[in-house]
Amino acid sequence: MNKRDFLKDAILFFPAAATLQALAQQAKGAAEPASTPDGYDATKHWYGMGIDVDKCIGCNRCVEACKVENDVPEEPFFFRTWIERYQIHANGETTVECISTRAAPPEQAEPEDPTVVRTFFVPKLCNQCAHPPCVQVCPVGATFQTQDGVVLVDAERCIGCRYCIQACPYGARYLNPKTRTADKCTFCYHRITEGLLPACVEVCPTEARIFGDLKGRADRLVRFHRVNPISVLKPDLNTEPKVLYAKLDGEVR
Ligand code: SF4
Ligand code: SF4
Repeated sequence: MNKRDFLKDAILFFPAAATLQALAQQAKGAAEPASTPDGYDATKHWYGMGIDVDKCIGCNRCVEACKVENDVPEEPFFFRTWIERYQIHANGETTVECISTRAAPPEQAEPEDPTVVRTFFVPKLCNQCAHPPCVQVCPVGATFQTQDGVVLVDAERCIGCRYCIQACPYGARYLNPKTRTADKCTFCYHRITEGLLPACVEVCPTEARIFGDLKGRADRLVRFHRVNPISVLKPDLNTEPKVLYAKLDGEVR
């Protein structure tokens, strides 16, 4: 049994044992820094994403592009990003449905509901929290934050204990059935450190998603932040999300 498997069994089956806690603490240390191209300086960036809710048409192209780019399992319910459809009914009720599990966009899949007075789509993903609870609970230091503000998972260290999945208040993580390690959006870290856009941003036909650097003074995201009324999800938790929503309805959590 290797060290990773030993720690996994120890933490899962004897969570209260002081000696094993100490072992886990010892193992925690620092995760391997994420690999970046030569000359890339993470301290010069602080990445975020803007989402203009009024522009999202719920086409799911971002979800499909993300699955291909990041080898996300094909089965429904495994996502690094997904789209929620909100429907406001005449009686004031709101219904919410994840539409990323469907083969066809909702307007093709079902007839219009006459009681619906308003429909809108909300793309969701890891919020790349500035204060990420998932990092705090990881017992082996596999989940970590880079200097440019992106939260990553070191799959070599992850023991699949699911603590981070439970700790994430946004439901942004899942256990990858192939690797048995925690998985989630990385803002396509392998692309952005090369100066490319995340796959979801690149394919969005309406520019509902805007990627940028909050340290860049002339950056598109900085302007997006300046000219729009911005909301974040669950602001009361003080996680300081870096996914910034414009024109977000108060119903969205
Ligand atoms: Fe961690 Fe969840 Fe915040 Fe992403 S949204 S950084 S997974 S707590
Ligand atoms: Fe919305 Fe753009 Fe994703 Fe389509 S690609 S669902 S418009 S965010």
